[in-house]
Amino acid sequence: MIFTILILALLWVFQYFFLQNYYQSAKKRDMTLAAARLSANAGSGDFDSLLQETAFKNAMNVKVVDEMGNQLTNVNNLGSFSLLAKDDYGTKQFELIGKLEDSGKATYSEVLSNSEFQIKELVLITRLTKYEGESDRYLIIEASIEPLYSTTKIIREQLFYISIILFELAFIVTIIISRRLSKPITELTETAKQFGSGDYDISFTASGYAEVDELSSVLEDAKDEIKKVTDLRKELIANVSHDLRTPLTMVKAYAEMIRDLSGDNPVKREEHLKVIIDESDRLSNLVNDLLAISRMESGNMELNKSEFSIREKLSDCMTRYNLLVEQEGYDIAYIPDDDRTVCADMEKIDQVIYNFINNAINYTGDEKVIRLVQKNKHGCVRVEVTDNGQGISKELLPKVFDRYYRGEKYKRDVVGTGLGLSICKEILKKHDFAFGVTSTEGVGSTFWFEIPTVGEKKHSKRQPKEKRTEPPEKQTPPKEK
Ligand code: ADP
Repeated sequence: MIFTILILALLWVFQYFFLQNYYQSAKKRDMTLAAARLSANAGSGDFDSLLQETAFKNAMNVKVVDEMGNQLTNVNNLGSFSLLAKDDYGTKQFELIGKLEDSGKATYSEVLSNSEFQIKELVLITRLTKYEGESDRYLIIEASIEPLYSTTKIIREQLFYISIILFELAFIVTIIISRRLSKPITELTETAKQFGSGDYDISFTASGYAEVDELSSVLEDAKDEIKKVTDLRKELIANVSHDLRTPLTMVKAYAEMIRDLSGDNPVKREEHLKVIIDESDRLSNLVNDLLAISRMESGNMELNKSEFSIREKLSDCMTRYNLLVEQEGYDIAYIPDDDRTVCADMEKIDQVIYNFINNAINYTGDEKVIRLVQKNKHGCVRVEVTDNGQGISKELLPKVFDRYYRGEKYKRDVVGTGLGLSICKEILKKHDFAFGVTSTEGVGSTFWFEIPTVGEKKHSKRQPKEKRTEPPEKQTPPKEK
């Protein structure tokens, strides 16, 4: 509305204040041109008809006078509006001749006005040079510089209608904009306020307007994300407190048992102390995971990259599982490919591989088959950890890398926090490595990541395709992260 008012104000100002000046200067330009044309044709045969034509075409009074101001020829198309026509003795004309001579210029012009008849006119005088030798002759042109009353009236009337139309249009546009834009935004703001106060049962509705729709879908996604994290966090607190309480109860109970019963019995004491140590390990795993994720969340993860042989690293990882293979019947194998040099933070990649393998151990099927596979690709090495467990359903698959997500059915002895895979995700994202999971229910899951190679340098000769892990050396708890 303000914009419309501004445009209208400008139009009215131009109409009222500048129309007069604009009209006057346009008229003067016409008169000067006409004077030049006439004086060029002075003395010629068709001079008189040219005088007529100029006067009629431009609504002017055109006359030729002698040096005393006496009228020789006159074509008056101003009629009774002509002020010079009222100058019966030619005194004004004589005065104009004097002013032209005094100015020393080729033309002289001035504005004449008559307050009685409200008339304002412009007169322009020039000497007709063609008559030299004879007595001097002058050409005087007179034209009204009041814009025609009817014309201005029409323009003002039109301006009035334009103003009304513009006002109405502005009003309609304002309503449309407020309906289509402001209203949905106000609604979104209201919903966002509800959301901010902790109500997650709201929904950001689309309005049919592209940008607002996009905003509402972004807000809806953000709400879903926040809701998910909040739910998972609640679940984690429940899980963590349960997972903390159980080992703590065990530690306390077994410590009391050693104090009261088995203190003097070395065999029993050893047994009870082992339980205490195992449960403490469980606790420290949990606390380590929580610490790691909180460090990553606050953006404090530094990468300490170095180049290393992928084949060496992967075979090295395998040695940790020797005891499991030996004692618990797990079928864990590394399937190597040609060696490649890769560049990454070795310790962190180690953590990822252990996490993948430990999950595979925890969730694998009764055949206990787990494969760590190296697949060389162009420019990178793909590392896959495959198990033959129950797999993960399609709906849950996108969630497994989420913070605090834990599958519903898990064994008590799987000390999980739901943080392992999200730690892997943070590490791989920080490295900018591709990673993911594929799973078929009832068949098993494959967790993988791709680590870029440095050049295509080979470290050692090709080894047999499948390499079983060596006989047991030391045992490492499966869920160490
Ligand atoms: P957790 O501490 O529970 O193992 P993770 O972040 O490591 O947490 O894994 C999240 C969830 O993903 C697990 O609770 C489990 O349900 C699922 N998951 C992870 N690895 C596998 C796997 N190899 N097979 C089936 N499910 C898995």
